[in-house]
Amino acid sequence: MDGGFFVSQTVKARGVRGAKESFEKVEITRRDLDEYDVQIEIKYAGICHSDIHTAHGEWGEVTDPLVPGHEIAGYVTDIGSKVSAYKVGDRVGVGCMVDSCGKCSSCEKGEEQYCLEGNVPTYAGVDKYGEPTQGGYSTHIVVTEGFVVRIPDELPLDKAAPLLCAGITTFSPLNHWDIGKGSKVAVVGMGGLGHVAVKIANAMGAEVTVLSRTLAKEEDGLKFGAKHYYATEDEETFEKLAGSFDFILNTVSAKLDINKFLGLLALDGTLVNVGAPAEPLDLHVFSLIPQRRSFAGSLIGGIRETQEMLDFCAKHGIEPEIEVISADDIDEAYDRVLDSDVKYRFVIDTATI
Ligand SMILES: [Zn+2]
Ligand SMILES: [Zn+2]
Repeated sequence: MDGGFFVSQTVKARGVRGAKESFEKVEITRRDLDEYDVQIEIKYAGICHSDIHTAHGEWGEVTDPLVPGHEIAGYVTDIGSKVSAYKVGDRVGVGCMVDSCGKCSSCEKGEEQYCLEGNVPTYAGVDKYGEPTQGGYSTHIVVTEGFVVRIPDELPLDKAAPLLCAGITTFSPLNHWDIGKGSKVAVVGMGGLGHVAVKIANAMGAEVTVLSRTLAKEEDGLKFGAKHYYATEDEETFEKLAGSFDFILNTVSAKLDINKFLGLLALDGTLVNVGAPAEPLDLHVFSLIPQRRSFAGSLIGGIRETQEMLDFCAKHGIEPEIEVISADDIDEAYDRVLDSDVKYRFVIDTATI
């Protein structure tokens, strides 16, 4: 680093100091601005299920402290000497990653999430300076400009925040598999990811069906743009809908009987998992062979595609359904997410941090 504008500073954050510990006020250091760095004052940070897995130590050891948060929306407050894409005052966002090698074949294609050296996650990672990364439950963050995206004026910052993970995680596979007018799409699960997927797939022109465990959220699903809504606890659903979809997006992280869902695909249909169950699935190849079906996974999206997603959402008026909370209520919010008692994403007002 050759002397940015800004000296490394201690900022306020909320973090845990071990697995299963409660959230508390912590202080973390944000680095000096490198010449390509952008300093962002965070206004809102969404709560993603990944935050909970990480804070609970389910995805590895918990650092002391650990500050989660990878659905970040705020304003640029300072820039490094060579930053060209952003200026002070711009409305910007940061998602699930803050850097990558920039040289491998994935990075060259703009698919930084698939960086062969591993992307640098926004929290619980290690940056190129060897420092642990800390996420968005904080007042400020410093990110290299290539991993910052612009939030269009049409999108309120609080509602834009969840798009940085839930939005891109669902937009990317729908976009990659060319979902559009005439596509018959099923979305499995009506949570944080699922409800955004319904809105996006509908705006892309697809005929959308929600497959949820029960019919409890049917009214919402239809309001968000689904044409049909079925309960998967009802075995008749699988008989009735056999062979009907071109594309199924599974947002559920619990272990499902994937063969039953594959049976709902039409000829050449694809089922994409963005939910990440911890245990292996019992996949029968004969669920794939008869109709030349595919089973795939997908991880967030690249930075260019994330910008495309935000512009798409602004153009089509797509906003996640959110409940804004105080930083004092993060523990309670985690419990409520685990109880599926959220419609549909918690967003922390960082003024309360
Ligand atoms: Zn996430
Ligand atoms: Zn790379």
